[in-house]
Amino acid sequence: MLQIKNYINGELIAPVGNQYIDNYNPATGKIYSHIPDSDGKDVQLAYEAAAKAFQTWSLTTKEDRSKLLIRIADLIDKNHEKLSRAESTDNGKPIQLARVVDIPRAAANFRFYATGVLHLSSEAQIMEDTAINYTLHEPVGVAGCISPWNLPLYLFTWKIAPALAAGCTVVAKPSEITPMTAYLLSELCIEAGLPKGVLNIVHGYGHKVGAAITAHPNIPVISFTGGTKTGAEIARVAGPMFKKLSLELGGKNPNIVFADCDFEQMLKTTMHSSFSNQGEICLCGSRIFIERPLYEKFKKEFVAKAIELKAGDPANEKTRHGAIVSKQHKEKILSYIALAQQEGGKILCGGNEVKLSGECADGWFIEPTVIEGLPYNCRTNQEEIFGPVVTLTPFDTEEEVLGYANSTQYGLAGIIWTENLTRAHRMAQHLQSGIIWINCWLLRDLRTPFGGLKNSGVGREGGFEALRFFTEPKNVCIKLSPSPTLPKGRE
Ligand code: NAD
Repeated sequence: MLQIKNYINGELIAPVGNQYIDNYNPATGKIYSHIPDSDGKDVQLAYEAAAKAFQTWSLTTKEDRSKLLIRIADLIDKNHEKLSRAESTDNGKPIQLARVVDIPRAAANFRFYATGVLHLSSEAQIMEDTAINYTLHEPVGVAGCISPWNLPLYLFTWKIAPALAAGCTVVAKPSEITPMTAYLLSELCIEAGLPKGVLNIVHGYGHKVGAAITAHPNIPVISFTGGTKTGAEIARVAGPMFKKLSLELGGKNPNIVFADCDFEQMLKTTMHSSFSNQGEICLCGSRIFIERPLYEKFKKEFVAKAIELKAGDPANEKTRHGAIVSKQHKEKILSYIALAQQEGGKILCGGNEVKLSGECADGWFIEPTVIEGLPYNCRTNQEEIFGPVVTLTPFDTEEEVLGYANSTQYGLAGIIWTENLTRAHRMAQHLQSGIIWINCWLLRDLRTPFGGLKNSGVGREGGFEALRFFTEPKNVCIKLSPSPTLPKGRE
């Protein structure tokens, strides 16, 4: 059985304690590989390698770093099918989704920052006859990057690429639930000729490896994506150490459908925003609010489509609804479906675990589930479920739906469907979310700021924001000598 290794100082090595964690295939429910159960000792080794590499990497030219990152992007493209299969097996997502979204985006992340860094410029402020200020952006040091399981390679590289491009070296930790593509990436980094210690990948549990990265006294910058509770714990530890922090956390996003929307387009996209990746995307619109005149038509047609979306083997080309990432997460989602019923919700479709036959007989699958009849402020409508579960709620006025939409502790993304441009802008202004999609969903331009308000996070990823996050601005002020006295008649 494959034994994943840590990637430290340019080599693939076993964890110091030689302990391993079982890694499951969610579609079969079976163990298919082992991953290092690393701890603080492995993090320390990774840190030492990264600190040493920083001395040279931080002094390389942007052009040299750019070339190396593009080489990694090219290798991801070259291994597209292998990585897609690995992502699908490890996470349970349909192979087609991994092929079209996850793996191309991982390559795009490297390419985007490899080229973006070439355009990062310094500012100069001139105080007429007195002084010139210029601002240097210097890499912060060894960066800690911690990522979740839902879009494993996609989100892992979304942190690593800007950190490396900016001149930081990295100690990174992928989720212990989906470690495989990060491991394959370490092989590609070796093949690309990335210098030793520039990127180090330490596998293992969050409370051991993640906590050791967060608490490390010489790792001054942490980029984290994951749950709000974990983010709070990281902030609790890193805050008093004055670390730079970027926290991308949970969401409970509203999808607001007005009666004047383009119905067909809205319905098709709402299926994706509800159930893509089994609803395990932080940006999914799990609370659907429908203007009352459209409510019954929406309900009928949406439920019919949700019933058609059948769970299947993620490795099958035709599957569009795969497995839930872990047994524990499957139980959590089912417990929320039970809670919704206790809270008075009516299940319109789904609501059950699915038992497939053959290889997938012991896999973890849940039907796409649509629930109505719940108050906006019940737990089902306030807490993040992170599964294929959406609620439907009718509304009559803009004010009413804004109240519902903004009522949660979260503020990550908001989706608005209307053909009324004025209303769309008005809603976008008043929705408390870091990302608003009007008549679309998950349409991403990597230059735009990405992140959430309220308990959905602190800071923004994307574009130059991420490059600047991994640098420290240093202002240099040069006093000018007084202007020479001009000859008479030339004043
Ligand atoms: P999680 O918080 O459980 O784990 C995320 C990562 O943190 C993992 O690598 C984990 O091992 C590590 N970790 C756990 N405890 C830690 C600790 N004490 N110190 C340091 N690291 C620790 O999240 P998850 O279950 O992997 O992912 C799902 C969550 O991620 C959802 O809440 C989802 O909304 C969120 N998410 C947010 C975004 C975003 O961009 N805002 C994107 C994807 C997922």
